[in-house]
Amino acid sequence: MLCIGLEGTAHTLGVGVIDSDGKIYANIRSEYVPKSGGIHPREAAQHHGVVLATKLQEALEKSSLTFKDIELIAFSRGPGLGPCLRVTATAARALALLLDIPLVGVNHCVAHIELGRLVTGFKDPLVVYVSGGNTIVSAYEAGKYRVFGETLDIALGNMLDTFARAAGMPHPGGPKIEKLAKNDSAEFISLPYSVKGMDLSFSGLLTAAVNTLKKGVQLEDLCFSLQEVSFAMLTEVTERALAHTEKPEVLLTGGVAANKRLQEMLQIISHEHDALFGAVSPDLAGDNGVMIGWTGLIQFIQGDILDIESSQILPKWGLSAFEFTRT
Ligand code: AMP
Ligand code: MG
Repeated sequence: MLCIGLEGTAHTLGVGVIDSDGKIYANIRSEYVPKSGGIHPREAAQHHGVVLATKLQEALEKSSLTFKDIELIAFSRGPGLGPCLRVTATAARALALLLDIPLVGVNHCVAHIELGRLVTGFKDPLVVYVSGGNTIVSAYEAGKYRVFGETLDIALGNMLDTFARAAGMPHPGGPKIEKLAKNDSAEFISLPYSVKGMDLSFSGLLTAAVNTLKKGVQLEDLCFSLQEVSFAMLTEVTERALAHTEKPEVLLTGGVAANKRLQEMLQIISHEHDALFGAVSPDLAGDNGVMIGWTGLIQFIQGDILDIESSQILPKWGLSAFEFTRT
């Protein structure tokens, strides 16, 4: 069965084509990059609306398919920014009606995890999902992905991007910080380490890093220290969740999964707990339509289909609010 997945929760408009065997035909993405500051929801939505038709066409061409071959439409129903979600949901409904095929609404966070399981082959991982909008440590138990730890304020990726912006680096800041942090002679600058129970807080760390920047320290030293402190916080929570759940695998996904230092830290604790470690490659770890298509197919097989009338978006649809039988 062939499915088109439409992703549009935040900055990325994604169109993915995938079949029920997990074969990926196309992964087309277009990212809205704000001229200044953070994401403006209305501008991001406008971007998605403008590029959507062209990206759909591109995805079909890349797949050597036509609309006639498509048997299912899946869209990111939440969580995310309302204006952005509405654009992709409207397109998905129109396509389902026009092609007379079923419509499935997918939880964006579950989709990151399910595609991660597909590409790594992991059966039952502890998941570390770190992106521009989310920082979640989660594992599947009794019909749901349970949240073991999460950020209490801003996401890890957002923290890195905001710091980078303050330091005059263009968006996305994460990869630029990683490059500067690689300096072998970097010196550690003390920054606040904030783990609260199983949860994380990055806003005080961000403020302290920006204030330290103004004191004229070496940017390389600060980038290095910011990574060390924030990644160590995440690693501590992950290790505790791993010790508690005794999962056999640790899966790192989301845009920040591309970071080699974070991969290294998580790999060390995974091995200490006899768990396998895997990171999803950046093209499939960041927001994309393939993950929506793949999870849509799993849900369809379980009979989880939406009527157009009740296919409203769910901007606050948390990861553990979604009951889901894993295959
Ligand atoms: P997503 O929201 O999943 O599309 O991921 C985007 C986020 O990933 C942004 O905050 C980026 O700065 C971050 N990111 C991408 N590559 C890296 C990297 N190499 N190191 C740290 N963060 C990264
Ligand atoms: Mg995401």
